[in-house]
Amino acid sequence: MGKVKIGTLCIQAGYKPKKGEPRQLPIIQSTTFKYDTSDQMGRLFDLEEDGYFYTRLQNPTNDCVAAKIAALEGGEAAILTSSGQAANFFACFNICEAGDHLISTASIYGGTFNLFGTTFRKMGIDVTFIDQEASDQEIEAAFRPNTKLVFGEVLSNPGVRVLDIERFAKIAHSHRVPLIVDNTFPTPVNCRPFEWGADIVTHSTTKYMDGHGVHIGGAIVDSGNFDWEANAGKFPGLCTPDESYHGLTYTKRFGKKAYITKVTSQLMRDLGSAQSPQNAFYLNLGLETLQIRVRRHNESARRIAEFLNGNADIKWVRFPELENDPEHERQLKYLPDGSCGVMSFALNGDRAFANRFMDSLRLVTIETHVADSHSCILHPASHTHRQMSDSQLREAGVDPDLMRLSIGLEDPEDIIDDITNAIAAARR
Ligand SMILES: *Cc1c(COP(=O)(O)O)cnc(C)c1O
Repeated sequence: MGKVKIGTLCIQAGYKPKKGEPRQLPIIQSTTFKYDTSDQMGRLFDLEEDGYFYTRLQNPTNDCVAAKIAALEGGEAAILTSSGQAANFFACFNICEAGDHLISTASIYGGTFNLFGTTFRKMGIDVTFIDQEASDQEIEAAFRPNTKLVFGEVLSNPGVRVLDIERFAKIAHSHRVPLIVDNTFPTPVNCRPFEWGADIVTHSTTKYMDGHGVHIGGAIVDSGNFDWEANAGKFPGLCTPDESYHGLTYTKRFGKKAYITKVTSQLMRDLGSAQSPQNAFYLNLGLETLQIRVRRHNESARRIAEFLNGNADIKWVRFPELENDPEHERQLKYLPDGSCGVMSFALNGDRAFANRFMDSLRLVTIETHVADSHSCILHPASHTHRQMSDSQLREAGVDPDLMRLSIGLEDPEDIIDDITNAIAAARR
């Protein structure tokens, strides 16, 4: 598709029906695919020919949706995974194995923090967490000869901090490794990290891409820009023969598609975590309206952040689009049209006041989820981290006052009324 805008890609990229085929993306709910000769099937297993044979590896519905996400990000190739967790796992494990090391920013989604800090370490992959505001020199000092990648979130969950993508890409590339970023919160509507030098993008499609809270899914997108061959010694999995495919070398056979092909043919083959075609269909419906929904999330969140910012009952608000936010300049650079619908704030009051406030909300619901059509709120000190004292929370980097608010697609004036009424009720 030529140079069309992202709103058009949301509708038109991916599935391209031919004469007489269904206009809407069909759900190919089949585990296997039929061939006429043994030789045809054999060539698929040797990766000599493109084609479908088993849905754990590839499925036509999933491939169309992955192609749409690749187009939205401006990438070379993409693959869907069963969850955002699986996407981040495979994105890193594809180039990082026992004995290797990776560098990640510390302010990332809790699930990813545990994946790296606990499970990867059990698998023999060492991790150094760094503060994303650390100086270049401090970050440089974290590199080791066996470092294989740098990881960060474009907008961190839940802190909504903005990653300086260009700076991180420069540092990663000077050490001859790729930068992998999780672009779940901005979505490609608000930020396209490849334009700033990131090499691989991951998504939890569970959030805005689905947008209606109906499926768990993930995606990995490769820009095709990182030159694995120029750093062949660091990436033997891509640049030396794979004995489990008769000595095929991914970079030589697949060029710019080497990285995603290896995810498909090795990691999906051996570890599973494929997305179901039914879920890919839901995801595609969400993607069709992604641009108009994200614009609405942007506008409503901006309106509500400004309301909170000027309210005497609110101690502080963190939302990068506020002019007084420490990351406002970076937001203007990387996310000029808007950041996302998520913000954090604190009330002027104690935990009991916070609880009375949340219990008094009528529209905004208490949920651990974020980033879909329903507005919701979470108070880590009362929910996810409730076993901790205030001082333990501070040690863990969680402000005991912090509330995470995710603005949905309701009328923003009604959400403002809901918050105003709940504060008044909590004061009584
Ligand atoms: C939710 C989330 C994940 C994990 O995704 P799941 O689909 O829940 O597995 C990863 N990264 C970010 C930024 C998220 O918000």
